[in-house]
Amino acid sequence: MVTKNKRCTKTCAPKSSKKQSLTESYIEMEERYGAHNYHPLPVVLEKAKGIFVWDVEGKKYYDFLSSYSAVNQGHCHPKILKALRDQTEKLCLTSRAFYNKYLCEYEKFMHEYFGYDKVLPMNTGAEGVETALKLARRWGNVVKKIKNDKIKIICCDGNFHGRTVTVITMSNDPSSFANYGPLTPGFIRIPYNDLPALEKVLEKHGKEVCAFIAEPIQGEAGIFVPDNDYFKKAFKLCHKHNVLFIADEVQTGIARTGKMLCSEHYGVRPDMVVLGKALGGGVLPVSAVLADDPIMLTIKPGEHGSTFGGFPLAAAVAIEALNVVKNEHLVENAEKMGKIFRAEVKKIKSPFIQEVRGKGLLNAVVIKPNNGKEAWDVCLEMKRNGLLAKPTHEHIIRFAPPLTITEPHIHKAIEIIKKSLKALE
Ligand SMILES: *Cc1c(COP(=O)(O)O)cnc(C)c1O
Repeated sequence: MVTKNKRCTKTCAPKSSKKQSLTESYIEMEERYGAHNYHPLPVVLEKAKGIFVWDVEGKKYYDFLSSYSAVNQGHCHPKILKALRDQTEKLCLTSRAFYNKYLCEYEKFMHEYFGYDKVLPMNTGAEGVETALKLARRWGNVVKKIKNDKIKIICCDGNFHGRTVTVITMSNDPSSFANYGPLTPGFIRIPYNDLPALEKVLEKHGKEVCAFIAEPIQGEAGIFVPDNDYFKKAFKLCHKHNVLFIADEVQTGIARTGKMLCSEHYGVRPDMVVLGKALGGGVLPVSAVLADDPIMLTIKPGEHGSTFGGFPLAAAVAIEALNVVKNEHLVENAEKMGKIFRAEVKKIKSPFIQEVRGKGLLNAVVIKPNNGKEAWDVCLEMKRNGLLAKPTHEHIIRFAPPLTITEPHIHKAIEIIKKSLKALE
């Protein structure tokens, strides 16, 4: 279907022809001019509203990926778009060389919303994670007084924290780190959801460890939900050894799992929280690290930053994105709709369904290959029937619609899933 490196003749504007659909021509154009660092489902989107997206052929779909949980509030939310538009008329970017009246309002808002002393604003999730790692190392150096060359951070097998060189150092997925070396020293990786492993490494290296970083549910690993007591006990172990506990809530935070932060499910208030994705309301990359003064104030003026971090446009959008979450009760809705979704999927009788798991509206169905078909084929069939979802790894499909979804739409989506599985049997 897609011919590689085919030169475009005369104009590159795609035209639908008998030979090639509009979809195929856009895909070919991307193949030709874009780096090949993604393998998307073959659908080309043109517009979106709420829980729906439309492709260039005019076909409508349920969006059950929500841009990896960056669109928790639904696509093109009118209030978030208004905040964005209004702010573009006033002030977009100042850099941090000067104060602006919008960032401080956002910082105060974040303090009141999440209850941490301070926020450090960045743009992407990976930058937020990098910032948390830098804060942890800085704290380890100047507060815990670990020798600089000995300092260590513990991370978990199966993690996904982003794509920078230091962040991929933590990954044990070769497609993330292979042939990108030399990587960053100073990490120890242990199995996820394994308290004895954490205890052992803390007993052995605790004096040199500044932090432990984990996701409250591993998203990219396939919505891997740890035991209920894992986070709480890991948190206690860390504190016993004077080690900071960092929760990467880039995907799980902001109401996705049926709590504002997923850590709340486990009764944990992490020392640092990394937020991203839905913090930008589905319209801008906005990330943040939350921490209290003893950690946050270890970084002094000029020692970390980002030109766009916390820019006025991001500040206005993030405030509105979080207001929408509260005003539209998305925490409660995610919890309620998630329960219904899991219950309904469990009722489907299909040889493909091996397991259903998740919290709130962050769910996964483990697909047992059957009849020569696997998760990718199921996603293609669901696309045909009007629902978009994407496999993570070969055999797991993530189902994570915008948190604004209503019960009738959950049931319609279930019908599509059921029909698609049936068609492949
Ligand atoms: C997506 C994600 C990131 C990285 O965010 P980017 O904005 O893509 O850099 C980090 N951590 C987790 C848990 C994520 O899901």
